[in-house]
Amino acid sequence: MIRLTNINKSYFTGSNELHVLKGIDLNIEGGEFVSVMGSSGSGKSTLLNILGILDNYDTGDYYLDNTLIRNQSETKAAALRNRYIGFVFQSFNLISFKNAVENVALPLYYQDVPRKKRNRIAMEYLERMGLKEWAEHMPNELSGGQKQRIAIARALISKPKVILADEPTGALDTTTSYEVMQILKEINQEGITIIIVTHENDIAHMTKRIIRLKDGIIDSEVLNGKTPALNN
Ligand code: ATP
Ligand code: MG
Repeated sequence: MIRLTNINKSYFTGSNELHVLKGIDLNIEGGEFVSVMGSSGSGKSTLLNILGILDNYDTGDYYLDNTLIRNQSETKAAALRNRYIGFVFQSFNLISFKNAVENVALPLYYQDVPRKKRNRIAMEYLERMGLKEWAEHMPNELSGGQKQRIAIARALISKPKVILADEPTGALDTTTSYEVMQILKEINQEGITIIIVTHENDIAHMTKRIIRLKDGIIDSEVLNGKTPALNN
């Protein structure tokens, strides 16, 4: 599903170059459930943004479902994102002036699905998240866990092959974090590839594979069930 070969990425600020990813090799098969760990600034979000075609890389190859992802126009990138990828963020990124069902329906709005139809489909996803009764509520009337479940429903509505989640439990308490991870696990069991960034060991251990970024390369890669090599 995802094949990265020798991916390099630098940021340039003024005359300074910050070489963040220094030759990432990574294969992720369809249906995997992977977590990316690493210290702050190690490049986790950078890697996820490249995977999500939100950012370009400098050198290397990125194949998504056998399509080479490189220097495409924003139109092409958006089309690829719509077709393949659902995003979930730490801060939920709900539209504050739209209610729950409208937030879930948003991707269908951009695909020009008529209002009635998109709200009907969005209701099905809300129901799946156990949030049917909250459909008319605005984001500021919802708990963090409810907001994240709405964000997950919104990510699912375009039937992505891959869900990318940058610290999806970062703003949630422990109990709610586990609930959200349980939902992601169920989605994964339906065959969707899931890649999450987390700095919490307990959360990472709920996935099937842990990837550890260190000094711009993948430092360790552990199949879940075994103890990760914690060098720091
Ligand atoms: P955190 O755990 O704090 O979220 P991270 O592992 O996600 O960290 P990144 O956000 O990928 O780290 O950032 C990696 C490095 O690249 C950091 O040093 C950061 O300051 C830098 N960086 C990230 N985005 C940019 C940008 N747009 N321009 C310049 N530097 C950037
Ligand atoms: Mg980050």
